[in-house]
Amino acid sequence: MNPETEISNVNATDEELLADIRNVAQKIGKKTLQPLEYKDHGKFFTSLILSRFANWNKALEAAGLKKVVKNGVPDEEIIADMKRVAAIVKKDVISKEDYRMYGDFGVSVIFNRFDSWEKALEKSGFKKSSEKDKKIRDLMENLEDVWIKLGRSPRFVEIRIPFSRYNGTQYIATFGGWHTSLDLFEEYISSVKVETEQSIAGKPVLENNHKTAKNINRQTRFHVMKRSGFKCSVCKNNSMTNPGVTLDVEHIVAYEKGGETTDENLYVVCSECKKQKEGNIQA
Ligand SMILES: [Zn+2]
Repeated sequence: MNPETEISNVNATDEELLADIRNVAQKIGKKTLQPLEYKDHGKFFTSLILSRFANWNKALEAAGLKKVVKNGVPDEEIIADMKRVAAIVKKDVISKEDYRMYGDFGVSVIFNRFDSWEKALEKSGFKKSSEKDKKIRDLMENLEDVWIKLGRSPRFVEIRIPFSRYNGTQYIATFGGWHTSLDLFEEYISSVKVETEQSIAGKPVLENNHKTAKNINRQTRFHVMKRSGFKCSVCKNNSMTNPGVTLDVEHIVAYEKGGETTDENLYVVCSECKKQKEGNIQA
């Protein structure tokens, strides 16, 4: 295209512009078109098209073509964009939802490039904070397990390997103090997340018109045990009265028979009673 035709180009209608985009796409046999490809074959300035349609993808959309998936974008640009989103949402590790909301490239582009969300986070340098998160979760889950074993709030001196998977000093080092650790535990254990279809990696989990997911999460488990005084609902034992016994939480009406994962339909059962119950079913 030569500059002398530019003036008449400015008067081109939107339809003429779109028709030419379609024409070029057809000519080079593509369902989408990069701006550079249009520049080589098109009649109009790409800048004219951009000024009419706000951006290149909007023009493609209006022309009935597929949007440009930014495959040509260097990894660094995608990584920079993930960091930009992290700054917007003020988080150390961003979720797919965060990125979907604020990212420039689309989650699918990231998946195609890095294979998985985890790998993309790793490449973007988010991994370290995600390891720290994992450590914190581990410490909290251990505190929960010790609490259940004792049937009450643990004392600092009781947090010792092998009764506990971590020593108390590790809590002090991570959280600054024992009381702070217990405060944070309260926060962790009361953050009950109701599991819905969306929360489990896109897999539908709610079958047969259930209102709740089958899985009894750690927070619900703890809550039900606390309600029962950390004792088996059947025989009232726990690992303090009967060493070796472990506690579990189960549905009263089986989930398969329509029972929901709600407080009223959950009870505590010890490993001994569970064995007996299973024996009865088999007999
Ligand atoms: Zn029992």
